[in-house]
Amino acid sequence: MILPIRLWPDPVLKERSVDVTLFDDELRSFAENMAETMYASRGLGLAAPQVGELRRVIVVDVDDVDQENSRGLLTLINPEVISGSGSIVWEEGCLSFPGVSEKVKRPNEIRVRYQTTDGALCEVEASGIFSVCIQHEIDHLNGVNFIDRVSRLKRHMVLRQYFKLHPEQAGQKASESR
Ligand code: ZN
Repeated sequence: MILPIRLWPDPVLKERSVDVTLFDDELRSFAENMAETMYASRGLGLAAPQVGELRRVIVVDVDDVDQENSRGLLTLINPEVISGSGSIVWEEGCLSFPGVSEKVKRPNEIRVRYQTTDGALCEVEASGIFSVCIQHEIDHLNGVNFIDRVSRLKRHMVLRQYFKLHPEQAGQKASESR
């Protein structure tokens, strides 16, 4: 089932998600719907708050832009970056900010601990676009959006362009605090 994607400045995008503690069929079905929604929108990743659910679930599939290291779909529950080094700058976009993008600097090599939809504890190492994507989605679980990771000036420019493209979203602009 394809879920509606929340667009900036929907307040849910600024909230912190809670840990998943129940690893049941409902969780697996929700994660499948998230993946379906991500593919339908041609995104590289999606976080639960983007479909209005404040729970720590993300899906990632960067095969479209990184065929060399094919990993397919990865569903990460309660993901956490446990180490990071180096740095990478990537032009990031977001399904909640259609039509705009900006360069963001992040650690490149990361190690991430997470749980599968069955609750099993796993770790994965990532670098390049895979790493950027995982970090971008984990940010969403903390109410952080990519525009929070650029300079004040760039943030202003990105948002001005965004509201020009999506004037229907500007009604909520007043609620934008940061
Ligand atoms: Zn995003």
